Parts: sequence; C-alpha cells; structure tokens
Amino acid sequence: MNSFSQLQLAPSLAKAVAEMGYESMTPIQAQAIPVVLSGQDVMGAAQTGTGKTAAFSLPLLQRMLKHENTSTSPARHPVRALVLLPTRELADQVAQQVKMYAKYTQLRSAVVFGGMDMKPQTLELKRGVEVLVATPGRLLDHIEAKNAVLNQVEYVVLDEADRMLDIGFLPDLQRILSYLPKQRTTLLFSATFSPEIKRLASSYLQNPVTIEVARPNQTASTVTQLFYNVAEDDKRNALKQIVKERGISQAFVFVNSKLGCARLARALERDGLRTAALHGDKSQDERLKALEAFKKSEVDLLICTDVAARGLDIKDVPAVFNIDIPYNAEDYIHRIGRTGRAGAEGLAVSFASPSDARLVGDIEKLTKQKIELLALEFADDRPRERMNTGRRHWDEEKRNDKREESPRESRSRYTPAPKAVDPFFDKPYEETAAADVPSTTTAAPSSPRGISPNIKPKRKVAALFKTTETH
Ligand code: AMP
Repeated sequence: MNSFSQLQLAPSLAKAVAEMGYESMTPIQAQAIPVVLSGQDVMGAAQTGTGKTAAFSLPLLQRMLKHENTSTSPARHPVRALVLLPTRELADQVAQQVKMYAKYTQLRSAVVFGGMDMKPQTLELKRGVEVLVATPGRLLDHIEAKNAVLNQVEYVVLDEADRMLDIGFLPDLQRILSYLPKQRTTLLFSATFSPEIKRLASSYLQNPVTIEVARPNQTASTVTQLFYNVAEDDKRNALKQIVKERGISQAFVFVNSKLGCARLARALERDGLRTAALHGDKSQDERLKALEAFKKSEVDLLICTDVAARGLDIKDVPAVFNIDIPYNAEDYIHRIGRTGRAGAEGLAVSFASPSDARLVGDIEKLTKQKIELLALEFADDRPRERMNTGRRHWDEEKRNDKREESPRESRSRYTPAPKAVDPFFDKPYEETAAADVPSTTTAAPSSPRGISPNIKPKRKVAALFKTTETH
C-alpha cells in the first residue's frame, strides 16, 4: 500500500494532499518522491496524467519548507525552485497544482508564460516567489528585464523535456541553465528517453536515478475502448446518440482539423449542446476560457484538435470521442489518456469511416490490441449515407466519403501518416505577436534578446469560426 502517510510529509503539505482526496500514491509518486526527498537528481519517464506533478512538487515543497517565512521583504522570497514546461497551458496547469499543494505553507509560487502582458507577472516576481513555473521564452524575457534572478535556485524541473526539445527550446534551456547555481537538484521528465534527451540529461544531471512508469504505447486499463463503424455524415448524430444513451455528462471530442473542430462545435451548439472549441487558431485567452468553462461544467463537450491532446489534465472526464481517427497512432493514446485518469473509469469511443482502415491498423499495432469495429444502430430511422455493418463492410467500401480534405489528410491515406502536430500550439509563447495582446493594451516591445531561431513568429489569430485554414 503506497500511502502518503509513509512519507511523513509536513502537516501543511499532508493537509493539502488530504484535501485533494488522494488515497494512495501513484506509481511515479511512490518511486520519485523518496528519491527527490533524498536530494538526488531524477530522470523520469512519465506522462502527464500519472500524477507526475505531485511527484516532483510535494518533495520540493517539503525540502523548501526550511526557508518558509512570513516576511514581506522580496529578498526573503528568492526563486528556489524553477519548473520549466513547453506550453502555456501546461505551465498554467502545473502552477495551479503547485498552488494547491503549497496552500497551507508560506511558500509563494507564480507562473510566467508568453502571450500575456508582462506587467502583472513582473509585479509578482518582484514581490518574491519561491517556486517559479515558466515557459522558457518568457522566462528569458524576465531574466533580461532583471525581473527574475535565479542565483538561489536549488531545484530545477525540466518537465515534458522531449516536447521542449521538439519545439526547439534547447538553446533557451541551455541559457537558462547557465544562470543557475551548479549545486542544485535537477529533475527531468520526458515521455521518451531519446538520444537527445539522454544527451541533455548527461550534460545537466548528476548521477540521476532513472524512474520509468507507463510506456508511451500503453493505454490505461481503466479506459473502455469502443470503435464504431460510422460514415462521415453520421458521426455527429452518432456522438449525440451515445452521449444521450449513456448519460455522459462531459467529454472531450477530438477532430483532426481546426476547420472541422470549429464546424462541429458550431453544429452541436445549434443542436442545443453546450460546447466549446479548443484549437490552435484560438487566442491564448479563448483557450484558457474554454478550458475553464469546461472545468466548471459550464460546457459539456470540449471539441478539440490535438492541441488539447497532450498534457492537459481535467479531472474526471467520463469520456473521450474520436470523431476522426488521429493520423498518428500515438495521438490516439494521448487523446484517450484524457479519460480514466488516476484510476478512474473512462470510456473512449472512436468513429472510423471506411477510409480509416490503415489508421485503425496503426492503432492496433501500437497498442497491441485487436480492434473490433462495432455497428451502431441509430435510434431514428432517417435515411443515412450508408448502413453501418461493421468491419467487413468497411473493408469493402470505396473511399468516396466526404471528409474535409486537407493536404495532410489526402497524403495520409496510403502513405505513412505524417506526425500529427499542431504547429501553432507547439510553438512557444513569445511576446512578438501583437495578435495575442488585448487591443486595449499596446503591443509589448519585442524581446531584446530576439526570438530563438527555432521559433517562428505567431500567426494572427483568426476570428472565431471564421478560420479558412484546412488543418
Ligand atoms: P499529473 O500527471 O500531475 O498531471 O496529474 C494528473 C491528475 O492526477 C491530476 O488531476 C492530479 O490531481 C491527480 N493526482 C495526482 N496524484 C494523485 C493521487 N495520488 N491520487 C489520485 N489522483 C492524483
């Protein structure tokens, strides 16, 4: 039994954990917390959804309690722990969790990420914070502006390190790490241990303890996975029917394209369902608002592209729907990882049309499971494009369905599927885009250090539902 009581956490932390309702430690927590408490470096292979944030936050907070004080002097609250993440959503999410774990302590935490006014962040930094959660680009802006001083950092967490490297943050990370004291504890979390990650670890970690949980090709055993053979034009009705029949209160609904995402959200809204759309053409503010509305249950269906597939944690989402089968089988695992989190029961329903055979085959291979395609009986008897009679039928189908075409989509039919990325979302959040700055504020001057060569400037944000992009 991996009880938190074994850890002998300080009462202020134990109280916060109890309030969160956690009964026992997750595997990454059981393995990592004692190691971090002992002050060793960690190289952890763990995905979001495994309880990774508490696995590093709780022991770091525990170790920092010795610095706890009620002084109002900023000098008494230097940055002692730095948590770096690739995207603003993840940074925001981790910061919220850290705040909850630290709520009964005197330790202060703050989050800084791009796409937001620097001023409020600056004020917070100047007041002094012990735990700073940040995306690399914005942190460098604050370092340049002398808002953040990192010479007293004792702990650094490189979270979702593989994604930070994918995005091209390596030069920024190297710069940030060069500002930190050599004597420190470094924790690195990554979904995979690629050669690049190993190189990063060997440069910046000292004799790390390696901890691995849940391989990337594993789906949680608590998630029931159903695949239905549904023609394109019937998918929206199929979704509505299953939601109704099963009394599903909330769900993530994944589509492959931004255009499809906006259209589906609009159509479901017209059908009387409370929906919000989350995709890469949405501004930072719109995305956070959509997530917040979903968290507060003001929205039942969150229609999203893979923008939301990785990392975002919303508790107790009972179901995930794949309106489109993802181009990349790994994204299937990330998508359905939005449900059945931390041991809860979850349902993942995927709609496959005849042209999806290869993509379904890829999922079978990756997850090493045989996928049975089910036929869906529709409750009404209006004529539909095709009858849904299961796998045999769709194997025989001609590929003449009416999916929205995008260059990526048509390419993906019989050639190896390109990696499903959302370049907008995967971009770090830099100050350059006037588009993200509310019109009432003046655009911030461009960063004095300039933009990392790996980072493309942000696109203008398209008006809601008026996007002309095809993916
Ligand atoms: P993370 O992987 O850190 O994003 O955490 C995923 C979710 O699991 C978050 O909503 C946490 O609040 C939750 N969680 C973390 N640790 C536990 C635990 N020991 N028991 C139950 N839920 C947990």
